[in-house]
Amino acid sequence: NGSGKAAAPVLSDAEELINSVETFIFDCDGVIWKGDSLIAGVPETLDMLRSKGKRLVFVTNNSTKSRKQYGKKFETLGLTVGEEEIFASSFAAAAYLKSIDFPQDKKVYVIGEVGILKELELAGFKYLGGPDDGDRRIELKPGFLLEQDKEVGAVVVGFDRYVNYYKIQYGTLCIRENPGCLFIATNCDAVTHLTDAQEWAGGGSMVGALRGSTQKDPIVVGKPSTFMMDYVSKKFQISKSQICMVGDRLDTDILFGQNGGCKTLLVLSGVTTLPMLQNPSNSIQPDFYTNKVSDLLIKKAA
Ligand code: PLP
Ligand code: CA
Repeated sequence: NGSGKAAAPVLSDAEELINSVETFIFDCDGVIWKGDSLIAGVPETLDMLRSKGKRLVFVTNNSTKSRKQYGKKFETLGLTVGEEEIFASSFAAAAYLKSIDFPQDKKVYVIGEVGILKELELAGFKYLGGPDDGDRRIELKPGFLLEQDKEVGAVVVGFDRYVNYYKIQYGTLCIRENPGCLFIATNCDAVTHLTDAQEWAGGGSMVGALRGSTQKDPIVVGKPSTFMMDYVSKKFQISKSQICMVGDRLDTDILFGQNGGCKTLLVLSGVTTLPMLQNPSNSIQPDFYTNKVSDLLIKKAA
């Protein structure tokens, strides 16, 4: 094993794992659903955990929707999950700004989709930008000058299918020229699975554009950063050693759990395959792995 880490064992005693924690944090895509389809066995598993008195929390790096929109998505899939149990990276961006007392008279420039705008609005912050921003016919004639709003005190960058050069220039100007302007990333996922046919450039591609132009590293609020873990543990007053993080991705979910000092369970229903987990160059090993969340229903493997 090139990384020097022992390969994670398969989950053989689900009951023991369940009894060892108070809270389960579930990643969403690849664990609860795949795109718009529910993964088989999820409702029964969540019901079983709730009946045992476990707290359930849902964390997603996908910033395109707000908490409220995710609430609707859960409902559409037939799952009873409250908005206050959902922590999306869109919400995390607004929660981060609140946590640092970002002044309400300053503005936030957003490169991202509607989820971020809705969360900023709900938190009472003024914002500009968003999916429709930018002049696609921008003509770079001699003397052309793009001026940024001097009241922008933070640039939030997330996944944006409508990204354009204007937005990159605008965000760059704010970060480079407005004194103290913050550079916040909802997440840095390299790729996402927008369709099951291939991998698509993820939120990290938009963040990378501004990283390149500003030569600054962003404050990341999504997984694997500890911001959401700290937030959840404080909000529900749960000790991190009493949490099991369940995810399908090593460099976001499992690292997120490990950064927080939680137990970690990798499911193979999403982006990580068993050969990827067991590849000697992979240094991120969860406590256990299993095929899918509904394996938690099986008490003990034969
Ligand atoms: N970002 C985008 C744009 C996505 O589409 C997805 C998954 O669909 C993700 C991030 C990762 O989401 P999660 O953290 O729920 O796996
Ligand atoms: Ca995932």
